[in-house]
Amino acid sequence: MPSSDYQYTYGPVSSRRLGSSLGIDLVPFKTCSYDCIYCQLGRTTNKTIQRKKYIPTIKVMEEIEKRLSGNSPIDYITLAGSGEPTLHSHIGQIIQGIKNLTSIPIAVITNGSLLSETEVQDDLMKADLIIPSLDAGSENIFQKINRPHGDLNFNSMVDGLRRFRNRFDKSIWLEVFLVSKLNDSVLEIENIADLVKSINPDKVQLNTVARPPAEEYARPISTEYLKTIKNKFRVETEIINKPASNKSLSASNNATRKNEILTLLERRPCTVNDVADGLGMRVNEVVKQLDQLSKRELMTIRFGDSRLFYRKKRA
Ligand code: SF4
Repeated sequence: MPSSDYQYTYGPVSSRRLGSSLGIDLVPFKTCSYDCIYCQLGRTTNKTIQRKKYIPTIKVMEEIEKRLSGNSPIDYITLAGSGEPTLHSHIGQIIQGIKNLTSIPIAVITNGSLLSETEVQDDLMKADLIIPSLDAGSENIFQKINRPHGDLNFNSMVDGLRRFRNRFDKSIWLEVFLVSKLNDSVLEIENIADLVKSINPDKVQLNTVARPPAEEYARPISTEYLKTIKNKFRVETEIINKPASNKSLSASNNATRKNEILTLLERRPCTVNDVADGLGMRVNEVVKQLDQLSKRELMTIRFGDSRLFYRKKRA
């Protein structure tokens, strides 16, 4: 299967946390129960808590099977992608289907917002590693940083994390994403650390803004401060991202990526997956960049062979 025929899988890509990771995208761009101010995919366009079969299960499984028949080494099969993967109502079947195909461990990167639902917990029980998020120690900050769907409630979300921990005996790595002047006060960090202790994950991973965020005002915290905060948690804690410098978050950094994409599209028309594979970028990031380039009318988009092809406009 040529790489351009894949719609729901990408990679394997090199991931700092998971090694060589085959990505599975279970929801359309950008379907999520949150609209985090730091999201590298941009603003959420479909904020929902409705679970449904967003993409066809059989097609995802076909793609995974074909990807697994390739020669690339894979350390993890990772369910993540263009939004919140637990919104897919068949995620449990997909995990089971992958287990029937391979012994490669399965990771699920989730915001954790739906773990208060027993059905969602059931669906994730066969995964090997769950990486949920907790970015706030209070409802007020939760609303500011994660901008959750109106029917979500902070206490119930945290309680879901605790209840899931009590059932799930494999690894849980809890990600805490820190944004300057939003959730980095001494009080908020203490609140988060108390909640982390009550959830009892296997480890905490501290993250901060390293790529252009959904909102310009979401700024990184410094490495020095990350190191200070690391000591506040009473479980194993690691820093997983170096903060971006203001310069690297600026338009010039973005422009470099756009130029790389335009150079590729100048040579040949490509699908989103072609660009991601060709430039070693995440599919989600490619979608965001292509969307911005389209708005600037720098590309033509053509539909052919049931797929969308992007090409740089000729001067
Ligand atoms: S960071 Fe994750 S949880 Fe937050 S809006 Fe983006 S996809 Fe959703």
